[in-house]
Amino acid sequence: MQLVDIGANLTHASFHPDVADVIARAREHGVAQIIITGTTPEDSRRALQLSEASDFLFATAGVHPHHARECGPGTIPALRELAQHPRVVAIGECGLDFNRNYSPHPDQEKWFVAQLELGLELGKPLFLHSRDAHPRFAEILKHHRIKTAVAHCFTGEREELKAYLDLGLYVGITGWICDERRGKHLVELVREIPRDRLLLETDAPYLTPRDLKPQPKARRNEPAFLPHILRAVARALGRPPEEIAAETTRNANTLFRLHESGSSAAAQRPLAA
Ligand SMILES: [Zn+2]
Repeated sequence: MQLVDIGANLTHASFHPDVADVIARAREHGVAQIIITGTTPEDSRRALQLSEASDFLFATAGVHPHHARECGPGTIPALRELAQHPRVVAIGECGLDFNRNYSPHPDQEKWFVAQLELGLELGKPLFLHSRDAHPRFAEILKHHRIKTAVAHCFTGEREELKAYLDLGLYVGITGWICDERRGKHLVELVREIPRDRLLLETDAPYLTPRDLKPQPKARRNEPAFLPHILRAVARALGRPPEEIAAETTRNANTLFRLHESGSSAAAQRPLAA
């Protein structure tokens, strides 16, 4: 069984002491590839550096809506430069977060649109974040004709899901589905996601599956727990985990073109054995 964790925040401070162990554990648990989420230009640079350590790691380059207020004239050129690297497989995470509102809405929209345009310019898929921002988020995507993208960490309701599927987006499911209080609706909604649009992610170190026993130290989530999320999704769908693993891995490879990125990255390293 081979899985792809399409969203892990491995640059997070909680991973600093043992990131190599975390990655090794993920591999032992069948996570064949990990896409490391970038949330600012600086953080995206660290994600890229981390990804260069192994052929099975990739990165995104983007600015999370929380950080929109920190953006300036240098932001998009910095992301554009990072995105030239073959291991950077998507622009993001970018989007709107009207839940925490760490940045004013006009700033969030401005830099969301700027990153959508960058993705279109470079022909890269988008790694999208939306929280409490429906329907504005979908309106902007529709206006810019964004199709090649994933709505990461989907936790919304039916209407929001339908809007994304109508746009042709992929949908990322996290351990939220394992939460018997907040994620109950997802157990039903996940059945409405076409099987060629479904992706799996941990969003580590966040969103530790609530039903994981024993709970990890400091409740830190990590990519090695992805099979636990896979099993919850497979249960909801009434299908064998192996089947869902194969499908979601195929979907991740289709959207992010991981094989291409891996091999072209290897080709760029003339000294690699
Ligand atoms: Zn997010």
